[in-house]
Amino acid sequence: MSEAAQAVGRPSRLVLLGHPVAHSLSPVFQNAALVHAGIPLRYEALDIAPDQLQRALAQLTEQDAAGNVTIPHKEAVARACARRTAVAEDAGAVNVFWVEEGELVGDNTDVPAFDEVATALLGGLSPPRNARVAVLGAGGAAAAALVAASSWPGVQVRIWGRSPERAAALCARSGGVAEPVSTPLEAVHGATLVVNATPIGLVDADALAMAVTHLPPTAAVLDLVYRSGETAWVRAARERGHRAADGLGMLIAQGALAFERWFGIVPDREVMWDAVRRPAGGAVVTPH
Ligand code: NAP
Repeated sequence: MSEAAQAVGRPSRLVLLGHPVAHSLSPVFQNAALVHAGIPLRYEALDIAPDQLQRALAQLTEQDAAGNVTIPHKEAVARACARRTAVAEDAGAVNVFWVEEGELVGDNTDVPAFDEVATALLGGLSPPRNARVAVLGAGGAAAAALVAASSWPGVQVRIWGRSPERAAALCARSGGVAEPVSTPLEAVHGATLVVNATPIGLVDADALAMAVTHLPPTAAVLDLVYRSGETAWVRAARERGHRAADGLGMLIAQGALAFERWFGIVPDREVMWDAVRRPAGGAVVTPH
């Protein structure tokens, strides 16, 4: 299946599967994009406990639904899909699905979204050359970052994970591009891009993925976490002169690419951005 795979026809429902999903921003910007595109569907956030996932997927398949997947279901939905795009296979995770000829099809738009945002942060040369990428965290978001970065010429990736076996397993799938390291300091040594792929900063607004004084002076900083008003880590890095971005750009990018998969049309990203800028400040927001 090609990476440009997309749903055939229009889904009957558009949903987000997660647990929890209450604070998700995806309904906000996806519904704004649907209205703007004149598509008469509402994007619904469904809180599905893990033991209810298979039943929910069976019903959604029957209903010819489509949607997004977030924590903690991305790997389980990947396993449940009858077909996956190559990028979803590589990531071992699905964040976008639809139904084709009665079968569940899964894709991963976190990977191209990371690629887009990280490439811009690194100065825009596409693909980036000889990047030295440090990834803090070894879960699903780290896997998406690794799959994206693996296509960059001359790239080297160092992954630090709180659970060393998880970092080692991720690196083992990287075809030699990535190596696991034992400390965050080792990971960022000589890095041109430092990525926070842990939830640090999501709930505790003041927590930093690592002290910014430890970052190489010219490294770009990409925090996959996001909250209203940006994360403390992004603000601290920028104050020290780093190019830095939080995860909101990646969230919008993955959502816009998902919209294309579902409807075969490119949504208006400005409409999506306007919708997420509107909520009152201070609230914690979660991916998707
Ligand atoms: P995940 O699969 O649960 O992985 C989280 C990783 O962070 C694991 O390696 C975990 O270690 C580690 N970790 C958790 N708490 C930690 C702590 N206090 N200190 C150090 N390491 C810690 O989650 P994920 O899907 O990768 O998501 C990670 C973050 O990325 C989340 O905050 C999520 O909001 C964000 N995200 C953003 C986007 C976006 O579009 N911007 C997309 C996806 C994810 P263990 O294995 O030891 O638990």
